Amino acid sequence: MSKFPETHFFPDVLDISTASAIVKGDDFTSMEKCTFVRNTAMIVPTAHCIRHSALCPLQGPDADGSGSPCWDWSACGKLGRLDGKTVVTFATWARFHVWWGTKMLMHENVPGFFVWFARWHLRTFSVCQFDVSPADSGFPLIERARQYLICVNRTTAEIRSDPYVLFDYVKQQLASQLMPKDAVFAEPAEIRAEEIKICQVRGKEVSIHSLPPDLYYTLSLAEQRYVHHLNTMYMVRTGRRPELDKDLVYNLVDNPENRVSWSVPSGQIPTLRRNSARTYYPSLRRCLTSSERLALMGYPSHWALAAACGSDEIARMSATELSFLVGNAMHMPTATMMWTIGLACVHPKAL
Ligand SMILES: [Zn+2]
Repeated sequence: MSKFPETHFFPDVLDISTASAIVKGDDFTSMEKCTFVRNTAMIVPTAHCIRHSALCPLQGPDADGSGSPCWDWSACGKLGRLDGKTVVTFATWARFHVWWGTKMLMHENVPGFFVWFARWHLRTFSVCQFDVSPADSGFPLIERARQYLICVNRTTAEIRSDPYVLFDYVKQQLASQLMPKDAVFAEPAEIRAEEIKICQVRGKEVSIHSLPPDLYYTLSLAEQRYVHHLNTMYMVRTGRRPELDKDLVYNLVDNPENRVSWSVPSGQIPTLRRNSARTYYPSLRRCLTSSERLALMGYPSHWALAAACGSDEIARMSATELSFLVGNAMHMPTATMMWTIGLACVHPKAL
């Protein structure tokens, strides 16, 4: 028996306020909806739960860690900001926690998220802002800049230690020198399985295996053109041959004539997105495998990683599930670090 209470699953956060019909309609602008939610909306006592196929009670937690949609704040999205549709999701989430008096919140979004917007909605909270990257939690080999907010409810909780001081200390403790070449560990069987799968999808004949495996032929003609383009750029820039640089990585999702996405000069693997299965190493002549991409996000996708984490290996998943996880999830060690800092510094008030 679990010692935790049974969990419910409410699939749409917009359904939890009395403003649901208004925020889902098209009669008002996003900011008008946000203002309405902040000032007027109440939180409903029950909502439809897909776990129990019933109306289940909504209750506030002691603490909450959430990432709100980044689509309207990210350069990869639409940059709709306060005109975008997703801000209402944040407003409803904030309203829920103001309503319930949740003691501490950890909120994650991209660096462009407006902190004043969070403070305006979370009017009973003190908001501490952190600009964080995976390098801060020991993963300097990958780009994924994020903004974290630790929000403390002034009525029900208090800050007893300075979270900025603890953040600096933890960062120093976790500092590492990992480079893109350290992300490569897949075993031949996984590489071969993914080679066969992509050949099936692209209608190519699987080649007789060479050692080490050369998967350049599995790239589409457009991707091969991108590799050639980036190789030329690299040689012009450095005077060196790209296949000799083990830390050189290309993101073949982006056409380099429009957007150059590679590990130069940062020495970091470009941010993994939902369509980032084409993260290519010229020195290896192959892309990162599923388990390598999961490991970059901090998931225990190999037995040695699982042993280091003291956990089971993450379960196998479909390509769609994996892309969703790698592209949308928080970077697990970074989120865990920020969550731990929040819990260490914030204490419930004795009421
Ligand atoms: Zn339920």
